[in-house]
Amino acid sequence: MMPPDLALLRVVLDARHNELEDSLRQREALAVEHGVDMIDQVQHTAARDMAIYTLGCESVRLREVRAALHRLHLGTFGVGLDCKEEISLKRLVAVPRAALCFVSQEASDRSSMSPRNHRRAAASRRILNLAPTAVVPVHL
Ligand SMILES: [Zn+2]
Repeated sequence: MMPPDLALLRVVLDARHNELEDSLRQREALAVEHGVDMIDQVQHTAARDMAIYTLGCESVRLREVRAALHRLHLGTFGVGLDCKEEISLKRLVAVPRAALCFVSQEASDRSSMSPRNHRRAAASRRILNLAPTAVVPVHL
C-alpha cells in the first residue's frame, strides 16, 4: 500500500475515532424519566432500548477503530490477521477498520452464523419485509 493511501486512511480512522468517542460521551438518552404518562414512558423505554443498542454497537466500532490505529502504528495495517494476506485497498477504503481480508471475513461470518442465528436473521428480514413477498391470489 502506498504511503498516501495509508495517510488518508489514518485521517479517516482518526476522525471516526473522535466521532465515536464524542458519541459515547453523550448518554442523555439513557437517563430514566419519572413522572410522565404511560405513553411517554413506553416511548421513552423504546428510545432508551435503542440508545443502549447503539451504545453497544458504537463501543464495538470504537474498539475496532482503536485496533486499526494500533496496527497503523505497528506497521501491520492492511494485513489480514487470519491469513496474513494483504487486505485490498478497495476493502480498506470501504471499511478502514477491517482486520480481515474479504475472503477471511466471509468465512468468519459464515462460521459465526449458527443455524439458530440464521433462523433469527431470516425472521428479522421477514419482519422488516426484506424477504421476497409472496404473491397473493386475488379473486374478483
Ligand atoms: Zn484473509
